[in-house]
Amino acid sequence: MAHKEHPAIGIDLGTTYSCVGVWQHGRVEIIANDQGNRTTPSCVAFTDTERHVGDAAKNQIDMNPTNTVFTVKRLIGRRFSDPSVQSDIKLWPFAVVKGPADKPQIVVKHKGEEKKFYPEEISSMILSKMKEIAEAYLACPVKKAVVTVPAYFNDAQRRATKDAGLIAGLNVMRIMDEPTAAAVAYGFDKISSNSAEKKVFIFDLGGGTFDVSLLAVMNGVFEVKATAGDTHLGGEDFDDRLVNHFIDEFKRKYKKDITTNPRALRRLRSACERAKRNLSFLTQTVVEVDSLYEGIDFCSRISQARFEELNMDLFTKCMELVEKCLKDASTDKASVDVVVLVGGSTRIPKVQQLLNNYFGGKQLSKGINPDEAVAYGATVQAAKLTGQGSREVQDLVLLDVTPLSLGIHITGGVMSVVVPRNTTIPTKQETVFTTQYDNQTNVRFAVFEGERAQTKDNYLLGEFTLSGIAPAPRCVPKFDVCFDIDANGILKVSAQDRTSGLKNQITVTNEEARLSNEVIEKIIRDAESYRVQDEECRRNYEAKNSLERYAYRMRNALREKNITSILPFVTKMTIEDAVQETLIWVEDNQFPDVSESELRLEDLKRICSPIDRV
Ligand code: ADP
Ligand code: MG
Repeated sequence: MAHKEHPAIGIDLGTTYSCVGVWQHGRVEIIANDQGNRTTPSCVAFTDTERHVGDAAKNQIDMNPTNTVFTVKRLIGRRFSDPSVQSDIKLWPFAVVKGPADKPQIVVKHKGEEKKFYPEEISSMILSKMKEIAEAYLACPVKKAVVTVPAYFNDAQRRATKDAGLIAGLNVMRIMDEPTAAAVAYGFDKISSNSAEKKVFIFDLGGGTFDVSLLAVMNGVFEVKATAGDTHLGGEDFDDRLVNHFIDEFKRKYKKDITTNPRALRRLRSACERAKRNLSFLTQTVVEVDSLYEGIDFCSRISQARFEELNMDLFTKCMELVEKCLKDASTDKASVDVVVLVGGSTRIPKVQQLLNNYFGGKQLSKGINPDEAVAYGATVQAAKLTGQGSREVQDLVLLDVTPLSLGIHITGGVMSVVVPRNTTIPTKQETVFTTQYDNQTNVRFAVFEGERAQTKDNYLLGEFTLSGIAPAPRCVPKFDVCFDIDANGILKVSAQDRTSGLKNQITVTNEEARLSNEVIEKIIRDAESYRVQDEECRRNYEAKNSLERYAYRMRNALREKNITSILPFVTKMTIEDAVQETLIWVEDNQFPDVSESELRLEDLKRICSPIDRV
């Protein structure tokens, strides 16, 4: 078989579990690991003698908590000082320190020595494991892969994930968004060129995170319309609720507090996760831990109903976020064609029931195992990129979107948006900028990400300067600015002077860790609450800008001999004074009220009418 020599795999590199697939015999094969499990814990452990990855690492966590690393996806591509990193660190039994360039490093003891690892390195160990699982199954080396990331992952997080692949000896052909992958898993065989647009809702409730996305699918083209979610909501929270429930029970029964013993807590937690999984298909189950605390063997029962009650507020929260996503996409729930279940926690019957009710009894797509759907789609994409698979696979086009607006800082600290939020990528947007002052020879281009009207409220991604511009009056030089985002979401911004052809550009680099997911969510929330204020700010700016532009145009007109030569001297003086006064006023008033600028523009226009008409 042709692809035997060049097999490409699809990997879902999850926060808590990872999954790998390969295209074989004309379809996707999800590959089981050496333990026979089709998903592998995203967990790496270091001991005095060995390194374990996956199930082996997770199984020894009780014995070796400080050297067992998990949920490293929360660190990848982020800075150590990122507030979300700081708050996560507090909850982890392993140590994380600040490394060079504010990068986090995980500290473990390995073979008797202290070792530090970047998140990319830990992720690469998980990717290596997934690669090995595939190689063992295919009995040949694997070099290429498609790896998925959450839709909200920014440039730095995507790059770091790609680097992790590189370290693992994989050529990451494409970084693909998880919801898109899930949609591909379900959608590719149903595509026909004459079908109408379909709205696909992806509900992904995993181990540590909850993500919902609305996709529009037409003619094999997938477009992410909106996303919402919670970066700290998932299966582990449901486990927590069970743990707390049994801690209380233990207190009641034995008058003892097991929270003082971390090992007891972790053993109880493992038992609770197992119980939770059982409760997805049993109405009740038993939680049993031998010698849990001070020699006491713990054994208790829990019903599905009790489990649901313990987690009801969390389930409700999920439904609220579903509503938010649809609202963001201005889509009515009745117009959603398909609801797709993704993530291990969507096996919980109550979650399915709430979702089913919300969508008015709509059938939920769960034909593909929810914890395998993302890897399934990644595998389809890998097959497409290596030229395997059916024609339908080949015809598939994938589109993702920018999570936040991207733009340039302009006069008055205003954010001039070049690529609006939720723009489909890859994208290339061009626009023209000019100088702010007369005879300006250097122009600084500062690239920002965010939803607010002023750049001071947004986030600086990077900047560059275009120097050596020929001196000219303000607003005369023209610069073509281009924002280019590739299929992996990596951003290049360039600016070129039309007159001289001078050019400069930046690629927002890996070191410049971009925004965290919480920050993105917060930005969108804030922007909503500041919308009125920001609108006003924009209107004020525009009115002031029109006034300023007009004043400069008149000033330039005055400098033209053929106009002023036909003007009476007094008129010329009056106009000159009025223009000068306006320009000073503009300079002195950072954010004048819109009405004030408009009044001044009216006055100035009246005064300038003799030359304006010429
Ligand atoms: P990730 O969040 O890493 O993408 P998954 O989508 O595989 O991971 O989800 C893992 C979560 O799913 C874990 O919290 C696990 O306990 C939970 N889970 C797996 N199977 C079940 C089940 N049968 N019932 C309830 N939860 C489950
Ligand atoms: Mg997942």
